[in-house]
Amino acid sequence: MKKVVIIGSTGSIGISALKLFDTVLGGYSVLAISANSNADELAAQAKKYRPKYAVIGTAEKAGVVQKGCAKTRVLTGADGLIKIASLKEADIVLIAVVGAIGLVPLLAAVRAGKTIAMANKESLVMAGDIIFKEAEKYGARILPVDSEHSAVFQCLQGESISCVKRLIITASGGPLKNVGPKQLKNITPEMALKHPTWKMGKKITIDSATLMNKGLEVIEAHHLFGLPYEKIDVVIHPQSIIHSMVEFIDGSIKAQMSHPDMRLPILYALTYPERGQGAVKPMDFMEVSRLDFLKVDFRKFPCFGLALSAGKTGGTMPAVMNAANEAAVNNFLDKKISFDMIPRYVAGAMASHVPEKNPGLDRILRADLEARAKVEEMIND
Ligand code: NDP
Ligand code: MG
Repeated sequence: MKKVVIIGSTGSIGISALKLFDTVLGGYSVLAISANSNADELAAQAKKYRPKYAVIGTAEKAGVVQKGCAKTRVLTGADGLIKIASLKEADIVLIAVVGAIGLVPLLAAVRAGKTIAMANKESLVMAGDIIFKEAEKYGARILPVDSEHSAVFQCLQGESISCVKRLIITASGGPLKNVGPKQLKNITPEMALKHPTWKMGKKITIDSATLMNKGLEVIEAHHLFGLPYEKIDVVIHPQSIIHSMVEFIDGSIKAQMSHPDMRLPILYALTYPERGQGAVKPMDFMEVSRLDFLKVDFRKFPCFGLALSAGKTGGTMPAVMNAANEAAVNNFLDKKISFDMIPRYVAGAMASHVPEKNPGLDRILRADLEARAKVEEMIND
């Protein structure tokens, strides 16, 4: 039995992962689960999967979770996440929380030398250099869950990274690809939350609407595959059938395809280097009929360019860009700012920051807090 820890089990990725345990993941068991505030869902999961541990954000809700399963040990807060991320008996730790908060359990899992199935892109964006240095030191392995990075990882099997000419990361274009630039200021959270091809958590769906998600993914790819930014391209592919491609030095291009369903990349990360029985609808190419490719519109979606520039600057800048974006997206979801202001606050926080090279973890965390404070200050001005 392989024992799996799911950090963020009540979210979109966490729930998709648990569905695999109901169907195709024989030989795997759920060792630990976690949520922030959704104690009812966590209790229902504890009742069904009987994990040894469950972690909830605050102590007040621990009783609700405990009702799910008397045998489950209920822990709370960041200490609880650190504990389950580094359990001796864990074979795989799936990090599926959203936002910078993922950095704490990720580092704990890395320092415990775990195999990590990595969905939480924000922590790689913030501190990729530190994470991969630590992973090497402690013998941890980080496997991508994000569909584009899973696609690249699958295309790279049996290949040498030195033979890669470039990565071609695909993007659906998000829910606003056909909206005119002048209409962007009138986009409501409800409109931006309607993604055409993927059903995901709120934060990543807004990031898909601004194309910030694609910018974060370029930085994520840079760290995961150790390639310079010049070798990472992005193309809009509205059908989301090709999840990404790798072009090699001889001109050959490999693409990984399937219907868009996160259960496939999650399954691949959990079963790697084997493959599990597919959970995805089989492909009928006559039904798909065509695959389109378009250029990214940098002017309409400034977040994409802001993320690329932060990635290329490096040091503390990616953490500032990421934190400013999280703060701006939260304010947009709370209807305190309009959609078109998200990139302006990200740009404002980046402009007011003097980046530092080779920052330690403390400096990165401080840069994150400063950027969030800067966005609140600009909004309240
Ligand atoms: P969701 O918002 O659906 O779920 C987030 C999970 O994290 C929930 O379990 C939530 O608990 C928990 N959580 C949120 N805040 C905290 C906190 N402060 N402390 C502890 N736990 C917390 O997100 P998604 O599943 O959509 O995304 C998760 C990650 O995976 C993101 O980084 C995203 O970019 C990445 N990803 C997601 C994809 C998708 O298809 N959804 C695709 C590719 C990558 P609670 O329910 O209690 O709030
Ligand atoms: Mg993705």
